[in-house]
Amino acid sequence: MLDTLRRIVQEVNNAPDIRSALDLMAQRVRDAMGTEVCSIYLRDNTEERYVLMASEGLKREAVGRVSLGFSEGLVGQVGLREEPINLEDAFAHPKFHYLAETGEDPFHAFLGVPVMHHGKVLGILVVQQRDARRFDQSEEAFLITISAQLSAVIAHAHASGVLFEQLDAHEDLPSFHDGQPGASGAAIGTGVLLFPEADLSAVPDREPEDISAEIALLDEALVRVRQEIRDLAERAKTTLGAEEQALFDVYLRMLDRHALPAEVVARIREGQWAQGALRTVVDAHVHNFEMMDDPYLRERAADVRDLGRRVLGQLQSRSRRRITFPEHCILLGDDVSAPMLMELPQENIVGIATTRGSRNSHMAIVARAMGIPTVVGAQNLPLKKLDGKELIVDGFRGRVIANASAELKEQFQEIIAEERHLQAGLEKLRDLPAQTEDGERIRLQVNTGLMTDINRSIERGAEGVGLYRTEIPFMVRDRFPSEEEQRLIYREQLSAFAPHPVTMRTLDVGGDKALSYFPIEEENPFLGWRGIRLTLDHPEIFIVQVRAMLKAAEGLDNLRIMLPMITSVIEAEEAQHLIHRAWLEVREEGVDVAMPPVGVMIEVPASVYQARALAQRVDFLSVGTNDLTQYLLAVDRNNRQVSDLYNSCHPAVLHALLHVVEQAHEEGKPVSVCGEMAGDPSTALLLLAMGYDTLSMNASNLLRVKAAVRQVNMGFLRQLLNEVLAMDNGEVIASYLDLQLTKVGLGDLIRHRKAA
Ligand code: PEP
Ligand code: MG
Repeated sequence: MLDTLRRIVQEVNNAPDIRSALDLMAQRVRDAMGTEVCSIYLRDNTEERYVLMASEGLKREAVGRVSLGFSEGLVGQVGLREEPINLEDAFAHPKFHYLAETGEDPFHAFLGVPVMHHGKVLGILVVQQRDARRFDQSEEAFLITISAQLSAVIAHAHASGVLFEQLDAHEDLPSFHDGQPGASGAAIGTGVLLFPEADLSAVPDREPEDISAEIALLDEALVRVRQEIRDLAERAKTTLGAEEQALFDVYLRMLDRHALPAEVVARIREGQWAQGALRTVVDAHVHNFEMMDDPYLRERAADVRDLGRRVLGQLQSRSRRRITFPEHCILLGDDVSAPMLMELPQENIVGIATTRGSRNSHMAIVARAMGIPTVVGAQNLPLKKLDGKELIVDGFRGRVIANASAELKEQFQEIIAEERHLQAGLEKLRDLPAQTEDGERIRLQVNTGLMTDINRSIERGAEGVGLYRTEIPFMVRDRFPSEEEQRLIYREQLSAFAPHPVTMRTLDVGGDKALSYFPIEEENPFLGWRGIRLTLDHPEIFIVQVRAMLKAAEGLDNLRIMLPMITSVIEAEEAQHLIHRAWLEVREEGVDVAMPPVGVMIEVPASVYQARALAQRVDFLSVGTNDLTQYLLAVDRNNRQVSDLYNSCHPAVLHALLHVVEQAHEEGKPVSVCGEMAGDPSTALLLLAMGYDTLSMNASNLLRVKAAVRQVNMGFLRQLLNEVLAMDNGEVIASYLDLQLTKVGLGDLIRHRKAA
């Protein structure tokens, strides 16, 4: 059974489009189970109906035409109950709803299972049989398993809206693709897909600008691949037997003008660019080979794929994709890494949408820092289809919209204008203190990492840097930066903000932050070799970094050093010892710099309970609420599957935060928050009420937080804090906070808009 299952899933995943995938699914499941009917009903949320989308055994003409209401018939019941219904005789069931158009009269036995994805019913998979009999348990288990395995394919088509559009031929209907808000704001622009090179499956559909030029590109690529294969054959002469040698001839025959290339040319003439045409043809051949029963022929699929990759490599190297960035461009990709973002023309990027990641991943943090409206984890975004299309990114709600109607577009244009207006109003606060109505002052600093952060932060009146993520300059290189390279980068930060302090965090890689030149392979990277653990194992990296920081601070003396991922006093002491050593070294070399304050990040639960002991040893504490929330709640900050559970208003997080500030102050040490909580006006106010001395956030949020601070008084905030600390439900706390702050007139500042 497992083999059959694997085969079906593979076939369906390789289907050229969703309709063929559904047809295949129905055929294969019917054959595998030896039943007479297998049908797939999919949920159409607009019409509130389950539509028959594929069937083997029912009348063909019913497909796409027949549907049932959400609570209608047995299909509706499976959907409502979210569990299988297995009946010996469907006709005898009171909920049975006879569909004459399907020709289901002869079929008595019925087994329906829901197709579930992320807790939602996407459709119903049904098998039927003439004889009145109950499907046995193994059949039921098989159908449930296959439904679970295939749900991702359906989810993809479902969310992209292509299913029902195809039925009605309404290509231009708006389609909504939900993910998570990565960075708030809205944007309208043209989708530009960033896709990895030499990956055939990632190539998008694109119209060629010049058909003959595309054909010429293909011809050139083929000449080079043919030569490559001849060279390979020549080299392999001594090592391979005649049989294996023959493989090269097969390759060359496939590349003959009249074979594969002729089909690619035909596709180009139909209006595809060479890379897209190649992908379509190779996919079709791979699919045909994979369908074959003969294992030898099945293996040929790999050869076609390999050839396809070679031709693609040549095509891409020749046309080295010069992405032309439209004026308002919305970056699309599975992932858009922070370094990638920095290499692109930032003035053109108005929005970002990715299929992976979640609101707390570093990419989203960088996007927020840059103030680019972003949607992350929109798992079902049909990336290839959105390239070149006009799109709306709704970063408030976490939604991407394609084919928006004129009204919808207008609505978003208004939202964009309103946001600009609000921002312009906030700019007046630049030089005013972050102080409550009754005079309580809090220091607002910025989190930096990108060079562009410097200007943005200064424009917004930041009182120094609470977190400089030094890993970012490490991530954009292809080797560790030298001491002198680091010194120059750090000097720029320190001098830009002097005399305000700049808190430089020592290298925090591992987890979801990788250095291409220092790969770390781990089963569980967030619980692995990350942050201080890695740098203490590599004192040569740590010391060079600290030396560079110290040298950079000469004459400015505004450096503070902060240690990430501390879980025990031993780590803090070891790191302090190394810092001291580096300081003595540079002093001996004649650098005139004072020993900087050294602090630790509180971002794992262990350090919450060690806060006092840590505070006794170091000069300051800073809470990294992004990781602290992740580790306290055991919710991976990058995993969208559990992102609903990631809530920094969870009582466990709030009580931990209160404990840390109390412990630090008992020792007379200053304490700040530099996680994302500090940059959200609602939670920032709670942190102020708890007594935090400093909040450090993305520059984009600074004025919003300042505006909120200036509109409240401490009496109100302390009462609010006491109320929420007495609550035991994080979701209730978050809504209560929003409600109370809206009541006192902060609605505009804290609004998480539900735009469309
Ligand atoms: C944090 O964990 O809250 C933090 C500020 O660090 P980072 O987001 O870089 O892990
Ligand atoms: Mg962290």
